Formats: sequence, structure tokens, C-alpha cells
Amino acid sequence: MQINQPHSLARSEDSEPAGNVASDFGRDWRLQIRTAIRSPSTLLAFLDLPLEPEPDFKFPMLVPLAYARRMRRADRSDPLLRQVLPDADENQHIEGFRSDPVGDLSSRRAPGVLHKYRGRVLLISTGACAVHCRYCFRQEFPYVEERAPGRRWQEAMAYLRAHPEIEEVILSGGDPLMLSTRQLDDLTRQLGELPHLRRLRVHTRLPLVLPDRVTPALLTWIERLPWPLVMVLHANHAAEFDPEVDRALSMLRASGAHLLNQAVLLRGVNNQAETLLTLMQRSFAAGALPYYLHLLDRVRGAQRFEVDPAQALALMEHLRRELPGYLVPRLVKEEAGMPYKTPLL
Ligand SMILES: *Cc1c(COP(=O)(O)O)cnc(C)c1O
Ligand code: SF4
Repeated sequence: MQINQPHSLARSEDSEPAGNVASDFGRDWRLQIRTAIRSPSTLLAFLDLPLEPEPDFKFPMLVPLAYARRMRRADRSDPLLRQVLPDADENQHIEGFRSDPVGDLSSRRAPGVLHKYRGRVLLISTGACAVHCRYCFRQEFPYVEERAPGRRWQEAMAYLRAHPEIEEVILSGGDPLMLSTRQLDDLTRQLGELPHLRRLRVHTRLPLVLPDRVTPALLTWIERLPWPLVMVLHANHAAEFDPEVDRALSMLRASGAHLLNQAVLLRGVNNQAETLLTLMQRSFAAGALPYYLHLLDRVRGAQRFEVDPAQALALMEHLRRELPGYLVPRLVKEEAGMPYKTPLL
């Protein structure tokens, strides 16, 4: 099963009112997704790298220019490039790497509703993303059938209504900020009928990948939410931040969002002490506190990114020596059937 094509949601009635803000923030983020790079040779040429034979890849490639511009020219081992460039390795089947490595489908309680941990529920709100990360553990998730809000949204609402212990709804995906602000607003208005909700959480890469997604309409939506919003960004490397991202994040904070950042520990991207240290410092400078550092979920085709747990622990030791406690992320691993993300100590 393949992930939806991101532009499948890009209908004209969903477009944001553009051009009513100061210069750069009037750029249309949906247009930037429609014009994103979708082939390895285009990206290699853009980066002044020699062309290579293209591997077969099932998970489509998707890299907006705003993200590609942060890659170093003529550097085949650039950490952002490595996150998005398909590799022949993806077709190798390795023992232990599966299509549903974290047991998502067994925690499904209604269409698009994953309930693994007490008090919080995850809603698969869309299958679309602004960038396709080659290590993604949801790349084989059946998004077409599994989406709340979809045709069977009332079943998801019924589940939430029947479980008053749920205090937090987590919008995930895919990337929930691929929904239009109007769709987000419809969704949260309906969630507003649930008297037991106290927090809303959004897991997203969009403010990093396409800072233009942070539109005035999005900020107004955040300001008017009836609950505190926790926004968890997914930056894996300091080079994913730039001045436009800084500006987008500071507007998100000004609208009242709490910003956290979680990363996946990825071989060849961020598995070096200095790289991780810089990521934590850069993320704080941009207004986001470190949250989790995840060991890779063993999804089929992602083996080139795996980091040995012993090396992960050594890296954590370095972070603890160098950083204040609040900048040290929690090293965790997702295990099917556990009541929380498993900490590695
Ligand atoms: C990771 C995850 C959460 C969130 O866990 P926290 O420890 O609260 O960040 C919630 N539900 C599901 C299904 C998850 O995979
Ligand atoms: S890691 Fe997140 S942004 Fe990247 S492809 Fe997966 S769901 Fe999308």
C-alpha cells in the first residue's frame, strides 16, 4: 500500500487567503508542494551532483524546493539529502524490518483512531505529507481506508465520546498541517463537543519544511482553540532550521502554541555527538524544547538508517555532559504492546 499523493488534498476551495500579509508570508504553500521535486535526478542536478542510476522505489519521492535549498551543494552525504533521496537499499528485505513495525494496526479503535496510551488518542488526519522521509515508519500505512476525518468520522467521534478518560487528542498522519486551515477548524469544532478534552497536540514537519504554511489563518485558528496546543516538530538536523523557519516558529509561539521537537536517530544524518548537540541548541534557539530522540522504527527498507543502541547510549551520555537537563531529549524506542514509549537508560 502506498501513501497518498500529497497533492490529492489540494483542492482550490482549500487554499489559504494569500497575499494579505507582509511580503514573503503571502507565498502559497500548496503551490510549493505542487512544484516540489519528485525525481532523484532532478534533485541531484539541482545540487550540482553527478547523476546516478535511479533505483526502483515504491514510496514516491517528494522534496519541496524550500527544503532542498537548505542542502549543501555538491555534497552527496548532506544530512537533509540523505533523509529524502531514494536508495536501492529500500528494495532489500532484511529480517526484522516489517511494514507495521510499531503495531499501529492492532491499536486501531475506529477508522483513523489509534489508542495505545492512556489518556491520549492519535488521529490519522491525512495521509499526505509535505516531504517524504525515507525512514518513515508509516510509509506502508493504509491511509486511504484509515483516515479520521473521513467518510466514517462519526465512528471516530463515537469512540472519543465513549472514552471520557481521553484528555488529549493528537493530530498525526501523514502531516495534519497538510489539511487546509478550514478543515482543521471543522475538525476542532467537532472535537470541541467533547467535554473531557484538555489538550490538543499536532505532530508536524510542515513549519520546518515549508514555513509558508504558517499563515495568518493558521495562527488565528491556534489563537481561538479552546485548549492549549502542543506542537511537536520533527527536525532531525540543525540545518533544517533557517531564518524563515525561525520566523514561522516565533509566530507560532506568539499565537500561544507550545513547541517541542522530536528527532529520529538516523545513521548518516545525526548519529554524531556534535551534530546532536547542535540540533538541541538550534532547536532551542528557534523556540522548541527537545522532546524525544527515537530509535528507528524497523520499517521495511529503512535499514541503512539504523543506529546501534550502544552507540545511542554513548551519544546520550555526551549530551548529558554538555547540555542543561532541559535540552537533553529522552531516548526512547517504540515497542508494540507497551503502555508508553520505552525509555533507554
Ligand atoms: C507516540 C504515540 C503517542 C504519544 O505518546 P507520548 O509519549 O505522549 O508522546 C500517542 N499515541 C500513539 C498511538 C503513539 O504512537
Ligand atoms: S516522517 Fe512524517 S513527514 Fe516524513 S513521510 Fe513520515 S509522516 Fe510524513
